[in-house]
Amino acid sequence: MIKNTNEKKNRIHNFTVLFYNKLAEINEETFPLGMITTEFLNITKEQVDKFTNILIDAYKVLDRVYMKSSFIHLSPYSKGNFKDFEVAFKKLLDVVNTLPLYKQLKIDNSDWIDRLRNVFHTYPKEDGYEELCKSLQSIQIIRDEIVVYQKYLLMFVDEFLEKAKLRNSHYYALALYDFLSNEHVQAELQKDKDSGTIVQFMLEHTASSEFVAWPDLNNTEKYAIGERKVFKSLAGFIIYDLLKALSAGNSPRKCHNCGIHFLLTAGYPDVYCDNPIEGDPKGRTCKDLGPHNPKKHKKNAVTQAVQTLKDRLKKQLGDGRIELDEHDNFLAYGKSLAKQFEDGDMPEHEIAEAISNISNSRRRKIIDEIHE
Ligand SMILES: [Zn+2]
Repeated sequence: MIKNTNEKKNRIHNFTVLFYNKLAEINEETFPLGMITTEFLNITKEQVDKFTNILIDAYKVLDRVYMKSSFIHLSPYSKGNFKDFEVAFKKLLDVVNTLPLYKQLKIDNSDWIDRLRNVFHTYPKEDGYEELCKSLQSIQIIRDEIVVYQKYLLMFVDEFLEKAKLRNSHYYALALYDFLSNEHVQAELQKDKDSGTIVQFMLEHTASSEFVAWPDLNNTEKYAIGERKVFKSLAGFIIYDLLKALSAGNSPRKCHNCGIHFLLTAGYPDVYCDNPIEGDPKGRTCKDLGPHNPKKHKKNAVTQAVQTLKDRLKKQLGDGRIELDEHDNFLAYGKSLAKQFEDGDMPEHEIAEAISNISNSRRRKIIDEIHE
């Protein structure tokens, strides 16, 4: 059952997030749409492996706690034994609480542990074992969702969204369509299915929703129409957050320098993140360093075209083929086209082509011939 949207208590598979003005609000903190999904994409393999190992340990402890008692054919369990399970279970919850979304939700799970302790001490052995096992499975779902949804979403973000001609919701929607209708890619994603997982990738998820008038945390004078949603799973939230973000013009993008994903907000076609580069003595970011490192990074076609135009105009001015005012006008026109690209109004290759056509040699030759 889904809890009421205004019920305060959150659980790992039953939690409320409020959305308004392209923001998600959790525990009186706001995040741009897509920000938590971006963090989700950045969960490392090491983090997943650690999660998996602690989960396996907890299952082993559970078996040991119950098996041990079955050997002695006495009381099937003793008070002391639950402590072992509790330690393993708490360790697992600690891992969950460091994950994106759960880090923000800060769920207090102490009553869950109390309930499991009660189950352990009062339920018949088989039932108790099953209940405790179920609690581990409910955490395993989170681990499996990370594995499966990360695989699908990284494919979508890095291969399909990355190729979007422009950074806006129209091209994001086209990218989504391409991703979903690409049978080859879908078949490949299905094929290397992680055999141990118990979840499947899907876009639809159950969530209840309620609209409320809500004070805007970033603008204390104002109220906004908020949508309070109760989700049943991490995956359900991630899909909602990502698709809301894309329709608002935000999208996660892989930094072309460090490979970590960052959130690109509407219309800003950057390929470098704002994170400080590890070990850089000056504390520079990928954005500071990226474009200045031509060996490592290909300049975008527009920047390249502007540079070529500058060089060409300089040469033409030197040869006396153009006058100074012509030179200035051509250059100003080239720069205004580049600005259109930066504003996200036109695709990179079209702008680059238009810039390379300015005062190019073939056209000049024709003009020169006419003049002769
Ligand atoms: Zn970076």
